[in-house]
Amino acid sequence: MRYVSTRGTARSLGFEDTLLAGLAEDGGLYLPESWPALAPDALREIAGQPYAEAALRVIAPFVGAEIAAPALAALVRDSYSGFGHRAVAPLKQLGEGLWLLELFHGPTLAFKDYALQLVGRLFDHALARRGERVTVIAATSGDTGSAAIEALKDRASVEAFILHPKGRVSEVQRRQMTTVDAANIHNVAVEGTFDDCQDLVKAMFADARFRREFRLSAVNSINWARIMAQAVFYVAAGAALGAPDRRVAFAVPTGNFGNIFAGWVARAMGLPVERLVIGSNRNDILTRFVETGEMAMRPVEASLSPAMDIQVSSNFERLLFELSGRNAERVAAAMAEFRAGGRFRASAEEWRGMRALFDAVRLDDEGTKRTIREIYETTGELIDPHTAIGIHAALHARRDPRVPVIAIATAHPAKFPDAVEAATGARPPLPARLAGLFDRAERFTVLPNDLGAVQGFIRRRVSVQGAA
Ligand SMILES: *Cc1c(COP(=O)(O)O)cnc(C)c1O
Repeated sequence: MRYVSTRGTARSLGFEDTLLAGLAEDGGLYLPESWPALAPDALREIAGQPYAEAALRVIAPFVGAEIAAPALAALVRDSYSGFGHRAVAPLKQLGEGLWLLELFHGPTLAFKDYALQLVGRLFDHALARRGERVTVIAATSGDTGSAAIEALKDRASVEAFILHPKGRVSEVQRRQMTTVDAANIHNVAVEGTFDDCQDLVKAMFADARFRREFRLSAVNSINWARIMAQAVFYVAAGAALGAPDRRVAFAVPTGNFGNIFAGWVARAMGLPVERLVIGSNRNDILTRFVETGEMAMRPVEASLSPAMDIQVSSNFERLLFELSGRNAERVAAAMAEFRAGGRFRASAEEWRGMRALFDAVRLDDEGTKRTIREIYETTGELIDPHTAIGIHAALHARRDPRVPVIAIATAHPAKFPDAVEAATGARPPLPARLAGLFDRAERFTVLPNDLGAVQGFIRRRVSVQGAA
């Protein structure tokens, strides 16, 4: 399989090069040259298989011949062997036609583990084979950071710098990052927002000299391999509810658009997805886009669902590429306009294509607390604020009522215990495997929102550790 950039001027790459590059050299995002198909019978077989076997079926065509089948199988099985639930991604019925896909049984209790546990292993496999090392830099609004750290800690081929917005992640999230004691992990608290962190990462990638000197690599949701690994849980859940013989819909608490775009990928491969519902918090750029056809940036505001406090949904670029008929020139122009003026408008056809499959629902903090309380009172389930937005979106979107909707639970309630307790009076306990989180020492460096300061820090740390 070859991968092409959404902006059309970077050369196409094979799977491993795409994995290691993250962002394309022209600033675009990689997508496979064509979409492999999962035949109806393959979907039916997946319904009865363990998660890791389903993952292999979905992933193998994207990897192609670059990793031998037995080696890939071993990496995939190992990735999901340590999860805290035997089904890995259990589906729970919440009500009539409403299902919850629990994606919080990985080591850091958020859905990002489902991709990053595999991506970390794929990185190590590729780099070890090549005898190379890379510097991973990632911006996190809370959950990516800890999931990346758990996936990359102590891997010999990787030095990792994780930027989080200072004071804007929950205490559990911060401690999950800063208490990991591994010499190759460097936590940076940036005096700014998540979008500032993301801009710093993008600027470092855009600095060709710096990028080459430190062999920069990304495990952010802009990395194609993460999207690929996330397509698995859409396929597995859809098959479990009867696909291909029954259509399904998904409702997804959305920030950077990486999770829900993986739902689009599952559909492109043949899963009969009736609708994809975007759940937004008050940072509702995507919901406004679905309503108006214009992507218009506003300042980020802090909410109860910090992983969604985002105004630049990087992965939307991938969907725009598809909505525009894979017109890379059009995508590059729209992205340049967005960067310069904070807005761009979809063409009538792009917007129609968007609305044909996507719907979007926003929910403020009051509504989030109300939903957490209602779900607790009616089902006994404690849900986190992100998940509440997904469930609310599932219940309030334009949909065919005969089609079951799967709301995605993106975090364990114990990651956001204060919000859950305020809404329900019940405090969700941390799973036993995280015991000790509040006793361990924290390690992080505070830096200003300044490219030179962050680059200088990376330079010093890498020269000490001897990477690059
Ligand atoms: C990352 C994250 C999201 C947003 O996912 P995107 O792929 O950025 O849209 C939602 N909820 C939680 C708990 C997350 O960690």
